[in-house]
Amino acid sequence: MSICTAPTYKMDKLNNLFIELTSKNCNQRCNGCYIDFPVSKNVKDFIPIDTVKEALKDTENEELYCIYLTGGEPMTHPDFNSILRMCLKRCNVCICTNSSFLNEKKVRFLKKVEDEGSTQIFFKLSLAHFDELESDRIKYRGNYRQTISALKILSRYNFNSVLSIQNFYRLSELILRENFMRIFADNEIKNTDIQINISYPNSSDDECMLIAEKADCMRGRILTRNGVYACSFLANDYRGRMGTSFKDYSKSITAETNFCSTCAANKGWMFAIG
Ligand code: SF4
Repeated sequence: MSICTAPTYKMDKLNNLFIELTSKNCNQRCNGCYIDFPVSKNVKDFIPIDTVKEALKDTENEELYCIYLTGGEPMTHPDFNSILRMCLKRCNVCICTNSSFLNEKKVRFLKKVEDEGSTQIFFKLSLAHFDELESDRIKYRGNYRQTISALKILSRYNFNSVLSIQNFYRLSELILRENFMRIFADNEIKNTDIQINISYPNSSDDECMLIAEKADCMRGRILTRNGVYACSFLANDYRGRMGTSFKDYSKSITAETNFCSTCAANKGWMFAIG
């Protein structure tokens, strides 16, 4: 019997700062979501704006490339606009959203916010399939049309987006990309504004953990209202706890969870945009 040792990943630089604005609030609750949602939809677990301010101050000497506003659905946070403006003063910001708030009026407003400074806003949206019914089966009914509509509006306002495809059906990447290009063309979405990231749910039965080529914990951390954690998968999970704040936090993690196997099975970043 072989003895397996989980790899340890060290973070050299904090380039990606993920901020979980809420862990349990989402207006959609996709079927395939990794978040364990409570029965009640009235959970007020928003991160206090002062916690975000403190984290930005504590990381002022770090070379941040991008701040990711995540959730749950980050746009449900009552202080979303203030937090966004605060983060944009520091570096580019990626809004990881289910797209349901991205109507014409909101996108026009976000363009004005972006135009106030020199940094950029990116968006990360997700679909599971190029076929509407298949995608909605994994996400929620109506998600496909909502996401395509949001991509169309974002493209019109010259925003750059990342479309994250969770390849549950394990289709060929070429077929996925060809079909999405066709959909972009049909909907007058400029495909130069959209980067497609394909990821796979883990189905590895390997006894021993593979070594990840790229894992988000190698160059980022996530801040939640409960402290600092290794990555979005392990946010608020004791196995990924790195510290109370960015004043003093751990830069190394033993990658021993099932989520870590998913990172190893995928070749790209799971949450960062590149
Ligand atoms: S799940 Fe998190 S801690 Fe584990 S390898 Fe992936 S990014 Fe690192």
